[in-house]
Amino acid sequence: MTQAYLDWNATGALRPQARAAMTAALDRTGNPSSVHGAGRAARRLVEEARARVGALVGASSRDVVFTSGGTEANMLALSPVLGGALLVSAVEHPSVRGGGRFAAVEEIPVNEAGVVDLAALERSLAGRERPLVSLMLANNETGAIQPVADAAAIVHRAGGLLHVDAVQAPGRIACDFKALGADLMTLSSHKIGGPQGVGALIRRDELPLDAVIRGGGQERGVRSGTENVAGIAGFGAAAQAAAEAFPGEARRMEALRDKFEAGLKAITPEAVIFSAGVPRLPNTTLFGFPGMKAETAVIAFDLEGVEVSSGAACSSGKVAPSHVLEAMGVSPELTNSGIRVSLGYATTDDDVGTILNAWVKLAEGLYRAGNQQVFAA
Ligand code: PLP
Repeated sequence: MTQAYLDWNATGALRPQARAAMTAALDRTGNPSSVHGAGRAARRLVEEARARVGALVGASSRDVVFTSGGTEANMLALSPVLGGALLVSAVEHPSVRGGGRFAAVEEIPVNEAGVVDLAALERSLAGRERPLVSLMLANNETGAIQPVADAAAIVHRAGGLLHVDAVQAPGRIACDFKALGADLMTLSSHKIGGPQGVGALIRRDELPLDAVIRGGGQERGVRSGTENVAGIAGFGAAAQAAAEAFPGEARRMEALRDKFEAGLKAITPEAVIFSAGVPRLPNTTLFGFPGMKAETAVIAFDLEGVEVSSGAACSSGKVAPSHVLEAMGVSPELTNSGIRVSLGYATTDDDVGTILNAWVKLAEGLYRAGNQQVFAA
Protein backbone atom coordinates (compact mmCIF):
# COMPACT_ATOMS: atom_id res chain seq x y z
CA MET A 1 0.00 0.00 0.00
CA THR A 2 1.31 3.44 -0.86
CA GLN A 3 1.60 5.62 2.20
CA ALA A 4 0.68 9.28 1.95
CA TYR A 5 1.75 11.62 4.76
CA LEU A 6 -0.46 14.70 4.44
CA ASP A 7 -0.19 16.28 7.88
CA TRP A 8 2.58 18.82 7.32
CA ASN A 9 0.89 21.54 9.37
CA ALA A 10 1.33 19.23 12.37
CA THR A 11 4.96 18.58 11.52
CA GLY A 12 7.06 18.21 8.37
CA ALA A 13 9.77 15.79 7.29
CA LEU A 14 13.31 16.83 8.17
CA ARG A 15 15.02 18.45 5.20
CA PRO A 16 18.25 16.70 4.12
CA GLN A 17 20.14 19.97 4.69
CA ALA A 18 18.87 20.08 8.29
CA ARG A 19 19.82 16.46 8.89
CA ALA A 20 23.35 17.08 7.58
CA ALA A 21 23.80 20.20 9.73
CA MET A 22 22.52 18.40 12.83
CA THR A 23 24.70 15.34 12.31
CA ALA A 24 27.76 17.55 11.93
CA ALA A 25 26.83 19.50 15.08
CA LEU A 26 26.16 16.33 17.10
CA ASP A 27 29.61 15.07 16.22
CA ARG A 28 31.24 18.08 17.90
CA THR A 29 31.75 18.80 21.56
CA GLY A 30 31.46 22.32 22.87
CA ASN A 31 29.28 24.62 24.91
CA PRO A 32 28.65 27.89 23.02
CA SER A 33 29.36 29.80 26.26
CA SER A 34 32.83 28.29 26.69
CA VAL A 35 35.76 30.49 25.67
CA HIS A 36 38.01 27.74 24.31
CA GLY A 37 38.16 26.62 20.70
CA ALA A 38 35.48 23.94 21.02
CA GLY A 39 33.14 26.45 22.64
CA ARG A 40 33.83 29.05 19.98
CA ALA A 41 33.12 26.50 17.24
CA ALA A 42 29.75 25.69 18.85
CA ARG A 43 29.04 29.43 19.14
CA ARG A 44 29.76 29.84 15.43
CA LEU A 45 27.15 27.19 14.59
CA VAL A 46 24.56 28.97 16.72
CA GLU A 47 25.34 32.40 15.24
CA GLU A 48 25.36 31.10 11.67
CA ALA A 49 21.91 29.61 12.31
CA ARG A 50 20.72 32.85 13.89
CA ALA A 51 21.62 34.76 10.73
CA ARG A 52 19.85 32.17 8.55
CA VAL A 53 16.67 32.20 10.63
CA GLY A 54 16.67 36.01 10.63
CA ALA A 55 17.20 36.08 6.87
CA LEU A 56 14.20 33.78 6.32
CA VAL A 57 11.93 36.61 7.52
CA GLY A 58 14.08 39.61 6.62
CA ALA A 59 15.18 40.26 10.19
CA SER A 60 18.71 40.83 11.42
CA SER A 61 20.35 38.14 13.50
CA ARG A 62 20.42 40.34 16.61
CA ASP A 63 16.61 40.25 16.59
CA VAL A 64 16.47 36.43 16.88
CA VAL A 65 15.98 34.72 20.26
CA PHE A 66 16.10 30.92 20.13
CA THR A 67 13.53 28.99 22.16
CA SER A 68 12.35 25.40 22.48
CA GLY A 69 9.64 25.95 19.85
CA GLY A 70 6.69 28.03 18.78
CA THR A 71 4.84 27.48 22.03
CA GLU A 72 7.68 28.85 24.15
CA ALA A 73 8.22 31.79 21.78
CA ASN A 74 4.53 32.67 22.18
CA MET A 75 4.84 32.44 25.96
CA LEU A 76 7.92 34.67 25.89
CA ALA A 77 6.15 37.28 23.77
CA LEU A 78 2.89 37.44 25.69
CA SER A 79 4.04 39.16 28.85
CA PRO A 80 2.64 42.18 30.70
CA VAL A 81 6.02 43.94 30.34
CA LEU A 82 4.95 44.62 26.74
CA GLY A 83 1.41 45.80 27.30
CA GLY A 84 -1.37 46.65 29.67
CA ALA A 85 -3.92 44.39 27.98
CA LEU A 86 -3.79 41.42 25.62
CA LEU A 87 -6.08 41.07 22.61
CA VAL A 88 -5.93 38.00 20.36
CA SER A 89 -8.04 36.72 17.50
CA ALA A 90 -10.55 33.95 18.16
CA VAL A 91 -8.70 31.53 15.87
CA GLU A 92 -5.23 31.65 17.45
CA HIS A 93 -3.25 28.57 18.42
CA PRO A 94 -3.96 27.43 22.02
CA SER A 95 -0.53 28.73 23.07
CA VAL A 96 -1.75 32.26 22.24
CA ARG A 97 -5.41 31.91 23.18
CA GLY A 98 -4.25 30.86 26.65
CA GLY A 99 -2.98 34.43 27.08
CA GLY A 100 0.64 33.65 27.91
CA ARG A 101 1.45 35.40 31.15
CA PHE A 102 -1.53 37.76 31.12
CA ALA A 103 -4.25 37.16 33.69
CA ALA A 104 -6.94 37.99 31.14
CA VAL A 105 -7.23 37.89 27.37
CA GLU A 106 -9.81 39.50 25.09
CA GLU A 107 -10.82 37.71 21.87
CA ILE A 108 -11.38 39.55 18.62
CA PRO A 109 -13.98 37.82 16.42
CA VAL A 110 -13.41 36.51 12.90
CA ASN A 111 -15.82 36.45 9.95
CA GLU A 112 -17.33 33.30 8.43
CA ALA A 113 -14.16 32.78 6.37
CA GLY A 114 -12.00 32.83 9.49
CA VAL A 115 -10.47 36.26 8.86
CA VAL A 116 -10.13 38.65 11.77
CA ASP A 117 -12.62 41.52 11.97
CA LEU A 118 -10.40 44.61 11.80
CA ALA A 119 -13.25 46.97 12.67
CA ALA A 120 -13.86 44.95 15.85
CA LEU A 121 -10.14 45.12 16.60
CA GLU A 122 -10.17 48.89 16.20
CA ARG A 123 -13.19 49.20 18.49
CA SER A 124 -11.60 46.99 21.14
CA LEU A 125 -8.41 49.04 21.08
CA ALA A 126 -10.17 52.34 21.75
CA GLY A 127 -9.16 53.81 25.07
CA ARG A 128 -6.69 51.03 25.93
CA GLU A 129 -3.33 51.81 27.36
CA ARG A 130 -0.35 50.09 25.69
CA PRO A 131 -2.35 47.20 24.22
CA LEU A 132 -0.51 44.09 23.03
CA VAL A 133 -2.23 42.33 20.13
CA SER A 134 -1.39 38.82 18.95
CA LEU A 135 -2.51 37.78 15.48
CA MET A 136 -1.38 34.77 13.47
CA LEU A 137 -0.18 35.23 9.90
CA ALA A 138 -1.85 32.04 8.69
CA ASN A 139 -4.22 29.73 10.47
CA ASN A 140 -2.94 26.21 11.13
CA GLU A 141 -6.36 24.60 10.54
CA THR A 142 -7.93 26.47 7.61
CA GLY A 143 -4.79 28.08 6.20
CA ALA A 144 -6.63 31.45 6.07
CA ILE A 145 -4.18 34.33 5.84
CA GLN A 146 -4.80 37.21 8.21
CA PRO A 147 -4.50 40.90 7.23
CA VAL A 148 -1.47 41.36 9.47
CA ALA A 149 -0.02 44.50 7.86
CA ASP A 150 -3.40 46.28 8.13
CA ALA A 151 -3.74 45.12 11.72
CA ALA A 152 -0.22 46.41 12.47
CA ALA A 153 -1.17 49.90 11.26
CA ILE A 154 -4.31 49.88 13.44
CA VAL A 155 -2.44 48.60 16.51
CA HIS A 156 0.37 51.12 16.12
CA ARG A 157 -2.09 54.00 15.70
CA ALA A 158 -3.56 52.92 19.03
CA GLY A 159 -0.09 53.03 20.62
CA GLY A 160 0.19 49.27 20.94
CA LEU A 161 2.48 46.45 19.86
CA LEU A 162 1.75 43.57 17.49
CA HIS A 163 2.96 40.01 17.98
CA VAL A 164 2.59 37.75 14.94
CA ASP A 165 2.49 33.97 15.27
CA ALA A 166 3.97 33.13 11.86
CA VAL A 167 4.62 29.45 12.60
CA GLN A 168 2.74 28.17 9.54
CA ALA A 169 3.89 30.80 7.06
CA PRO A 170 7.58 30.77 6.01
CA GLY A 171 8.33 28.88 2.83
CA ARG A 172 4.63 28.93 1.97
CA ILE A 173 3.78 32.63 1.67
CA ALA A 174 5.80 35.85 1.83
CA CYS A 175 6.72 36.44 5.46
CA ASP A 176 8.75 39.59 6.00
CA PHE A 177 9.04 40.82 9.57
CA LYS A 178 9.44 44.48 8.64
CA ALA A 179 7.00 44.59 5.71
CA LEU A 180 4.30 43.11 7.94
CA GLY A 181 4.94 45.78 10.55
CA ALA A 182 5.36 43.20 13.30
CA ASP A 183 7.02 44.06 16.59
CA LEU A 184 7.44 40.41 17.56
CA MET A 185 7.18 37.24 15.50
CA THR A 186 7.10 33.56 16.44
CA LEU A 187 8.71 30.86 14.27
CA SER A 188 8.95 27.10 14.69
CA SER A 189 11.63 24.91 13.17
CA HIS A 190 9.62 21.73 12.57
CA LYS A 191 7.05 23.44 10.37
CA ILE A 192 9.73 24.38 7.83
CA GLY A 193 11.59 21.08 7.66
CA GLY A 194 13.83 21.53 10.70
CA PRO A 195 13.81 19.43 13.87
CA GLN A 196 11.08 19.55 16.50
CA GLY A 197 11.72 21.33 19.79
CA VAL A 198 13.36 24.47 18.40
CA GLY A 199 11.84 27.83 17.58
CA ALA A 200 12.52 31.51 17.71
CA LEU A 201 11.03 34.78 18.77
CA ILE A 202 11.97 37.69 16.52
CA ARG A 203 11.80 41.03 18.32
CA ARG A 204 12.16 44.56 17.03
CA ASP A 205 14.80 46.87 18.49
CA GLU A 206 15.53 44.78 21.52
CA LEU A 207 12.05 45.26 22.96
CA PRO A 208 12.23 44.30 26.62
CA LEU A 209 11.28 40.68 27.19
CA ASP A 210 10.40 39.02 30.46
CA ALA A 211 12.28 35.71 30.52
CA VAL A 212 10.21 32.57 31.03
CA ILE A 213 13.33 30.50 31.74
CA ARG A 214 15.93 32.16 33.95
CA GLY A 215 19.42 31.08 34.83
CA GLY A 216 22.77 31.53 33.13
CA GLY A 217 21.65 34.44 30.96
CA GLN A 218 22.03 32.90 27.49
CA GLU A 219 20.24 34.54 24.53
CA ARG A 220 20.99 38.03 25.87
CA GLY A 221 19.47 37.16 29.19
CA VAL A 222 15.97 36.40 27.89
CA ARG A 223 16.22 32.63 27.49
CA SER A 224 18.62 30.83 29.77
CA GLY A 225 19.90 27.31 29.33
CA THR A 226 22.69 25.86 27.23
CA GLU A 227 21.64 26.26 23.62
CA ASN A 228 20.30 23.22 21.73
CA VAL A 229 23.22 23.51 19.31
CA ALA A 230 22.31 20.64 16.96
CA GLY A 231 18.65 21.61 16.92
CA ILE A 232 19.49 25.24 16.25
CA ALA A 233 21.93 24.26 13.48
CA GLY A 234 19.18 22.12 11.91
CA PHE A 235 16.70 24.99 12.21
CA GLY A 236 19.19 27.32 10.50
CA ALA A 237 19.80 24.89 7.65
CA ALA A 238 16.06 24.34 7.18
CA ALA A 239 15.48 28.10 7.16
CA GLN A 240 18.08 28.59 4.46
CA ALA A 241 16.70 25.70 2.39
CA ALA A 242 13.11 26.95 2.76
CA ALA A 243 14.14 30.48 1.74
CA GLU A 244 16.02 29.20 -1.31
CA ALA A 245 13.12 26.99 -2.41
CA PHE A 246 10.57 29.82 -2.13
CA PRO A 247 8.39 30.52 -4.08
CA GLY A 248 8.87 27.54 -6.44
CA GLU A 249 8.15 24.99 -3.72
CA ALA A 250 5.02 26.89 -2.66
CA ARG A 251 3.71 26.98 -6.23
CA ARG A 252 4.29 23.24 -6.62
CA MET A 253 2.39 22.54 -3.38
CA GLU A 254 -0.41 24.83 -4.52
CA ALA A 255 -0.83 22.97 -7.80
CA LEU A 256 -1.08 19.65 -5.91
CA ARG A 257 -3.47 21.15 -3.35
CA ASP A 258 -5.68 22.50 -6.16
CA LYS A 259 -5.67 19.10 -7.81
CA PHE A 260 -6.73 17.49 -4.54
CA GLU A 261 -9.55 20.01 -4.04
CA ALA A 262 -10.80 19.58 -7.61
CA GLY A 263 -10.82 15.79 -7.11
CA LEU A 264 -12.56 16.10 -3.75
CA LYS A 265 -15.35 18.23 -5.24
CA ALA A 266 -15.70 15.93 -8.27
CA ILE A 267 -16.13 12.87 -6.03
CA THR A 268 -18.36 14.60 -3.46
CA PRO A 269 -19.86 17.90 -4.59
CA GLU A 270 -21.32 18.34 -1.07
CA ALA A 271 -17.86 18.54 0.49
CA VAL A 272 -17.29 21.98 2.00
CA ILE A 273 -13.84 23.55 1.80
CA PHE A 274 -13.49 26.00 4.65
CA SER A 275 -12.07 29.50 4.01
CA ALA A 276 -12.11 28.70 0.28
CA GLY A 277 -13.09 32.25 -0.63
CA VAL A 278 -10.17 34.04 1.03
CA PRO A 279 -6.38 33.95 0.55
CA ARG A 280 -5.09 30.73 2.08
CA LEU A 281 -1.81 28.93 2.56
CA PRO A 282 -0.96 27.08 -0.67
CA ASN A 283 -0.57 23.75 1.13
CA THR A 284 -3.70 23.52 3.28
CA THR A 285 -7.25 22.22 2.84
CA LEU A 286 -9.70 21.92 5.70
CA PHE A 287 -12.86 20.25 4.49
CA GLY A 288 -16.07 18.95 5.94
CA PHE A 289 -18.75 16.56 4.76
CA PRO A 290 -22.25 16.50 6.24
CA GLY A 291 -22.72 13.51 8.51
CA MET A 292 -19.05 12.50 8.61
CA LYS A 293 -17.32 12.09 11.99
CA ALA A 294 -13.81 13.45 11.73
CA GLU A 295 -12.27 11.08 14.31
CA THR A 296 -13.67 8.06 12.48
CA ALA A 297 -12.59 9.44 9.11
CA VAL A 298 -9.00 9.97 10.34
CA ILE A 299 -8.84 6.28 11.31
CA ALA A 300 -10.45 5.19 8.03
CA PHE A 301 -7.94 7.30 6.07
CA ASP A 302 -5.12 5.80 8.13
CA LEU A 303 -6.28 2.29 7.25
CA GLU A 304 -6.07 3.35 3.59
CA GLY A 305 -2.49 4.57 4.13
CA VAL A 306 -3.33 8.27 4.35
CA GLU A 307 -2.22 10.35 7.32
CA VAL A 308 -4.32 13.45 7.89
CA SER A 309 -5.73 15.08 10.99
CA SER A 310 -9.02 16.26 12.36
CA GLY A 311 -8.65 19.96 13.09
CA ALA A 312 -5.52 20.74 15.06
CA ALA A 313 -3.11 17.91 15.82
CA CYS A 314 -1.78 19.85 18.82
CA SER A 315 -5.02 19.05 20.64
CA SER A 316 -5.13 15.40 19.63
CA GLY A 317 -5.90 13.05 22.44
CA LYS A 318 -8.89 15.08 23.48
CA VAL A 319 -11.91 15.11 21.21
CA ALA A 320 -12.95 18.74 21.29
CA PRO A 321 -14.65 20.61 18.46
CA SER A 322 -12.38 22.97 16.55
CA HIS A 323 -12.45 26.43 18.15
CA VAL A 324 -11.54 27.80 14.71
CA LEU A 325 -14.64 26.44 12.98
CA GLU A 326 -16.78 27.39 15.96
CA ALA A 327 -15.47 30.96 15.77
CA MET A 328 -16.39 30.99 12.07
CA GLY A 329 -19.98 30.08 12.96
CA VAL A 330 -19.87 26.71 11.18
CA SER A 331 -22.71 24.34 12.17
CA PRO A 332 -21.81 21.71 14.83
CA GLU A 333 -22.45 18.92 12.30
CA LEU A 334 -19.93 20.29 9.81
CA THR A 335 -17.49 21.32 12.56
CA ASN A 336 -17.36 17.72 13.78
CA SER A 337 -16.55 16.55 10.25
CA GLY A 338 -13.51 18.79 9.66
CA ILE A 339 -10.52 17.00 8.12
CA ARG A 340 -7.26 18.84 7.51
CA VAL A 341 -5.06 17.84 4.60
CA SER A 342 -1.72 19.66 4.56
CA LEU A 343 1.07 19.24 2.03
CA GLY A 344 4.81 19.78 2.21
CA TYR A 345 7.96 20.00 0.14
CA ALA A 346 8.13 16.23 -0.33
CA THR A 347 4.46 15.70 -1.25
CA THR A 348 4.04 14.01 -4.62
CA ASP A 349 1.39 13.62 -7.27
CA ASP A 350 1.06 9.99 -6.10
CA ASP A 351 0.16 11.20 -2.59
CA VAL A 352 -2.72 13.17 -4.07
CA GLY A 353 -3.81 10.09 -6.04
CA THR A 354 -3.65 7.98 -2.86
CA ILE A 355 -5.85 10.32 -0.82
CA LEU A 356 -8.37 10.70 -3.64
CA ASN A 357 -8.63 6.92 -4.01
CA ALA A 358 -9.11 6.64 -0.25
CA TRP A 359 -11.77 9.35 -0.34
CA VAL A 360 -13.71 7.46 -3.03
CA LYS A 361 -13.92 4.49 -0.65
CA LEU A 362 -14.80 6.59 2.40
CA ALA A 363 -17.41 8.55 0.49
CA GLU A 364 -19.05 5.38 -0.76
CA GLY A 365 -19.51 4.28 2.85
CA LEU A 366 -20.78 7.70 3.87
CA TYR A 367 -23.32 7.84 1.05
CA ARG A 368 -24.51 4.36 1.92
CA ALA A 369 -24.79 5.22 5.60
CA GLY A 370 -26.73 8.35 4.69
CA ASN A 371 -28.97 6.32 2.39
CA GLN A 372 -28.00 8.56 -0.49
CA GLN A 373 -27.37 7.63 -4.05
CA VAL A 374 -23.76 6.50 -4.44
CA PHE A 375 -21.91 9.18 -6.37
CA ALA A 376 -23.19 12.19 -8.04
CA ALA A 377 -20.82 11.86 -10.96
N1 PLP B 1 1.46 28.38 16.52
C1 PLP B 1 0.86 27.75 15.51
C2 PLP B 1 0.01 28.52 14.55
C3 PLP B 1 1.03 26.37 15.34
O1 PLP B 1 0.44 25.75 14.32
C4 PLP B 1 1.83 25.65 16.27
C5 PLP B 1 1.99 24.19 16.17
O2 PLP B 1 1.16 23.50 15.64
C6 PLP B 1 2.46 26.37 17.31
C7 PLP B 1 2.23 27.74 17.40
C8 PLP B 1 3.33 25.70 18.31
O3 PLP B 1 4.61 25.44 17.78
P1 PLP B 1 5.54 24.30 18.43
O4 PLP B 1 4.97 22.99 18.01
O5 PLP B 1 6.90 24.56 17.85
O6 PLP B 1 5.51 24.51 19.90
